[in-house]
Amino acid sequence: MPHSLKPIIISFIICLWLGLTTQLSHAQMNDSYTVQAGDTLTLIALRYNLAMIDIALANQLPYPYLIYPGQTLILPGILPPTPTPIFTGYSASPLMQPPTNLTPATTGQVKLHTIQMGETLFSIATLYGVSMPDLMQANGLTNPDILQMGQILEIPSNLPAEPTTLPEPFSSIYFSEAVIMQGHTLVVKVNLSQVARLSGVFNGTRLFFTGSGQQKWVIVAVDAMTPPDSYAVQFTATMPDGRDMTTYRNITVTSGGYGTEDIQLEEGRETLLDPETSQAEWELLTKLWSQITPRPLWQGTFNYPVNMTTSGMTSFFGTRRSYNASPIVSFHSGVDFSGGASTPIFAPAAGRVVLADTLQVRGNVVLLDHGLGLFSGYWHQSRIMVEVGQEVAAGDLIGYVGDTGLVTGPHLHWEMRLNGLAVEPLQWTEQVIP
Ligand SMILES: [Zn+2]
Repeated sequence: MPHSLKPIIISFIICLWLGLTTQLSHAQMNDSYTVQAGDTLTLIALRYNLAMIDIALANQLPYPYLIYPGQTLILPGILPPTPTPIFTGYSASPLMQPPTNLTPATTGQVKLHTIQMGETLFSIATLYGVSMPDLMQANGLTNPDILQMGQILEIPSNLPAEPTTLPEPFSSIYFSEAVIMQGHTLVVKVNLSQVARLSGVFNGTRLFFTGSGQQKWVIVAVDAMTPPDSYAVQFTATMPDGRDMTTYRNITVTSGGYGTEDIQLEEGRETLLDPETSQAEWELLTKLWSQITPRPLWQGTFNYPVNMTTSGMTSFFGTRRSYNASPIVSFHSGVDFSGGASTPIFAPAAGRVVLADTLQVRGNVVLLDHGLGLFSGYWHQSRIMVEVGQEVAAGDLIGYVGDTGLVTGPHLHWEMRLNGLAVEPLQWTEQVIP
């Protein structure tokens, strides 16, 4: 689920505040402004008491966050500048390159975004790297301030051109796959020529990099329902003096070739699919797997959670699902293994138990936190053998297979979540990540 940008913007503003020099510069009360080296839209909006959204709209900015020195901006309905300290003392070198051209989507795939609490049209446009006017036009919006939580927006595809050479301080950007499959985990490694803070955005999701100094990396979940297309990954390096440099790399997402299946539920059990019943359970899990333990607890590849000489896989990840011949409502978010009440479940990698409880839909569950936003879940157990807070090592017993919750028979459902998105667990058993 996309993170709201609001806290990020707020903390960004606070960071700006802390990094300020105290010299004041009084810009004139013109209705236009020439972008200076070191300017960001946030900074200009702050300085002139304007909403970023209004500046972006007034200037039909192709990318609200991408402005460049020398660019003339219209400042709509400008108020007297506030005595806010501003950045001074930047070198005259261009800090940002304007996008040289925009490549419209050719595949006709449609991306959708469900508006979350606290989001604005500007924050959504920024998340996807699309312009406010394009976003408004695609959705027939006339007033950018009137949005409803839960409203679904169509995100027009607007892929920025990849720069042929990386701007300073970027030395190299490495993707573990040039073409990534739906539902898979991508490793991104970035080398910088100097120490800088690094952040990124991919398909509406913020990327939080780890690593110190000049080498950073992040693991990125590609949602299993992502329409196959090319996507821009945005990287922003913030230098110690507060300057931002943004660049892009494109990544192609391909189909996972996932099939479809219809699940027949027995009478009585189907009522558990009632949204109200499962909503509280979903919220509990979402709250848990949205947290980020800042260091990785796992190492190397993951093992299978059951002994594969006695158990087999009965359902794969990604399969589009319908229930009792209804339309497709979801996809299978994990891998199912056969087994019974005497089949032990082992932790496939080191982690910490964050949930060991009985839920209505998922039955007896264990959820392990592996760090860096990576979690693994074990549903429908007959018995739970661990407690919340317990640290487990790879191979430790965590429970036994069962048929508790919404199931058609005994099995283990093994699921992996990265930043809240379900990812293919089998990739983690084959590939050393990162
Ligand atoms: Zn399952």
